[in-house]
Amino acid sequence: MLSPIRRLSPQTVNRIAAGEVIERPAAAVKELVENAIDAGASRIEVLLSGGGIARIEVIDDGAGIARAQLALAIERHATSKLTDEALVDIATLGFRGEALPSIGAAARLTLISRPAGQDGAYRITVAGGEVTETVPAAGGQGTRAIVEDLFYATPARRKFLRSPRAEGDAAERAVWRLALAAPEIAFRLVADERVVFDLPAQAEPARVAALFGRDTAAAMLKLEAERDGVMLEGYAAPASTTRATPVLQSFVVNRRPVADPLLRMALRLAYRDVVPAGRHPVAALRLTLPPEALDVNVHPAKTELRFADANGVRSLVIGAIGRLLERPISLDGAPPAFRPGLNLRSPAPAPSVAARGFAEAELALLSPPSARGLMPAAPAALNYPLGAPVAQILDTYVLAVAADGALVIVDQHAAHERLTEERLRGEFLAGRVAAQPLLLPVVVDLPMTDASRLLAQASALARLGLEIEAFGPGAVLVRAVPAALKDADAAAMLRDLADEFRDADTPLALESRLDAALARLACHRSIRAGRRLAPEEMAALLRGMEATPRAATCSHGRPTFLKLTKADLETLFGRT
Ligand code: ADP
Ligand code: MG
Repeated sequence: MLSPIRRLSPQTVNRIAAGEVIERPAAAVKELVENAIDAGASRIEVLLSGGGIARIEVIDDGAGIARAQLALAIERHATSKLTDEALVDIATLGFRGEALPSIGAAARLTLISRPAGQDGAYRITVAGGEVTETVPAAGGQGTRAIVEDLFYATPARRKFLRSPRAEGDAAERAVWRLALAAPEIAFRLVADERVVFDLPAQAEPARVAALFGRDTAAAMLKLEAERDGVMLEGYAAPASTTRATPVLQSFVVNRRPVADPLLRMALRLAYRDVVPAGRHPVAALRLTLPPEALDVNVHPAKTELRFADANGVRSLVIGAIGRLLERPISLDGAPPAFRPGLNLRSPAPAPSVAARGFAEAELALLSPPSARGLMPAAPAALNYPLGAPVAQILDTYVLAVAADGALVIVDQHAAHERLTEERLRGEFLAGRVAAQPLLLPVVVDLPMTDASRLLAQASALARLGLEIEAFGPGAVLVRAVPAALKDADAAAMLRDLADEFRDADTPLALESRLDAALARLACHRSIRAGRRLAPEEMAALLRGMEATPRAATCSHGRPTFLKLTKADLETLFGRT
């Protein structure tokens, strides 16, 4: 038998809603900062302790909440931002009147506020849904919101929290995204006493440079396009500047930072043919469209949208970036683009090559004019499994004749990357990676969140042969690099490592992350595709591969070489 139907108490309703609106500390931080932006603040300060689980404080100099309205602010569906008539025309970030009551239901929330002209500040606290009196308090113009012990009142939710470091990373990221969306507001973010960033009000390019890192931003190109009343503006990097994860992608729609799948997919498609698999483009995009062409009320967290003309928005993004990428740009330092259509999908030892593997492009690749350095095979090398090098083609592949007469094609970059990685791993497992002190230490500019994250891992990085120290906000001084990578670009290495160390929470995760970091580092010294090799270098590469474990695939799982046996060749020529 079911019990009779009753209305739930407002407290229970708020707790249920809290689960949707405030999923984790990052969501509470986002809501509070959005409130500060909506209040017209010119300066916002965010202080986090224990990843935001222990405490979040957001201080603004905005319009404030009048004494008589404080109690209303924490009531459900009470908002100053929406009239009952205007649900399509939303100009503020908030409008549902749910954030403060949800936070107050799950945690201890204190608001201290003073509008201009009011005699002093007043305070109200709501803890687990219980509201206190509104009392006088000290405070200047604006609002201070303090959240303590998040989810103490909803233990079920608390169980789903990750480590303070992982939650803190997500919370910092939320502020990072809002700071990008509102460059005209000064932002200061402090996490456990560490100043993550401290940015004055600034123009958009300066804000992008501060939050993406100056070096990265310098490579980015300005973007501007319009279609059917939808404006696209922002900055996007050429294909030679990519990251190991999608962290340096920001989307702002009508001043609201969003994590919209449609926009993310459009960006991916725009770069599809030029960014290698496993790498991610870098872009800060801003869309402006008429409010009626957009529904932001799809999800309580308001990070997803519905576009009235989704196809139009998608083609606008793909088209504008496509045109940007067609501009002539320097490709020096570009990672080799991995074109999925071109791999013969056959790691050693016994490849079976489908006839369709030889598309037109491969035939061009094997055509005589592009073969260079033909030389007689040295008979002694024929005793080696990968045989003797006979030529390098396209400055990218080494051709060899194996001991059993098979044709071996080696991807010089992929193969060398694996060799470097295994050398680093060997040193790492033996204790620590040999470091090479730099004669002139290098200063690397990074997004401020990345710089502080890497510095927090300085002792772990020393085990990888990387010695770094703080060098002012957003800058890191590199004193030593792994000896095996002494010629690599220290700045590029650090940028990739910063991605790797996002969310590095438990000690266990740290070990596997260091291991993954080795693979990432190896990428940085490897012989580039496009470099001409001397015959001795080719031979050394083949001998190195034979002596190295797991040399048949590179660290991204792609084959390092293909072997075409007599049987494969007969199949391809239709002889069987
Ligand atoms: P919403 O933002 O959707 O209106 P909230 O629960 O986040 O709902 O906030 C409720 C109301 O409290 C807001 O509409 C606003 O009037 C007021 N408020 C909240 N935070 C601030 C702030 N930092 N400064 C001024 N007013 C605020
Ligand atoms: Mg709000």
